[in-house]
Amino acid sequence: MQTLDRDGLAAAVEADRCAGRTIGLVPTMGFLHEGHSSLIRQARAECDRVVLTIFVNPLQFGLSEDFDRYPRDLDRDLRIAAEGGVDYVFSPEVADLYPNGEPPTRIDVGPIGEIAEGAFRPGHFSGVATVCVKLFHLTSPHRAYFGRKDAQQLAVVRQVVADLDVPVEIVACPTVREPDGLAMSSRNAYLGPDARRAAPVLYRALRSAQEAAAAGERSADRLRGLVESVVASANLGPLLRLQYVLVVNPASFEPMNTVKDHATVALAAMAGSTRLIDNVDVLLTPNVGTGQPA
Ligand code: AMP
Repeated sequence: MQTLDRDGLAAAVEADRCAGRTIGLVPTMGFLHEGHSSLIRQARAECDRVVLTIFVNPLQFGLSEDFDRYPRDLDRDLRIAAEGGVDYVFSPEVADLYPNGEPPTRIDVGPIGEIAEGAFRPGHFSGVATVCVKLFHLTSPHRAYFGRKDAQQLAVVRQVVADLDVPVEIVACPTVREPDGLAMSSRNAYLGPDARRAAPVLYRALRSAQEAAAAGERSADRLRGLVESVVASANLGPLLRLQYVLVVNPASFEPMNTVKDHATVALAAMAGSTRLIDNVDVLLTPNVGTGQPA
């Protein structure tokens, strides 16, 4: 495995492309966990060269957010990357990517950037889109691997790549969870013991919506209500407070009233002082619970 600066990386991927090798990009903010490793594994299985980027991108953090205290451990990340079979690691400093300070040029992602996570984190998805396009230019990947854990980010990246004709295939990878259902996240390191014990109710609540949809429930209001009632009935008080629960179109993140065949149920919550997000996809089983013949 080689750790490269931007010129070294550009030279390496150009040589690979000339030799006909396929390049898979796994963009991360580091503090790697099994969720990141699953992306690396999928890229390793599908591409000749795997590029891992580690960059805590200031453009996607609000002023009051956790940019400064975001967990970082580059040595450990490099060990995990090497074990996962990564070929090239690119872990630039902020000044390497933004030599003139935060750039005035930003990608405007439109309405998808203003709902759900975007409503709570103004400018977040513009910052995500901007850094992703920079990373796509710097690494020229054939494929880039993103986790479904960040479903809205995935939708934003797919939209940007389609709208700006970026020649990269976006590959979505399943959410990796702890044994008790909590979605793995670098931010789980912030959870105190009580909040950590409370947090798995989020996935239980999402699962109840998923099961109801599979049994034929089409009403977005009722699916949202189910999620809220599972969380409320856990009686966790201030240890776990939902910020939003939305039933959305997976591609546009537009809220739905009625689920036709496929939707994403997405939520955000505060577990103690830690903000968590999670989501599940729901698929309606045709004709179940509708009284119609199968
Ligand atoms: P991050 O370092 O949090 O920016 O995440 C980097 C990539 O890993 C993103 O595409 C995330 O969606 C993905 N990722 C983070 N957590 C998980 C998880 N638990 N399961 C699968 N992918 C994940």
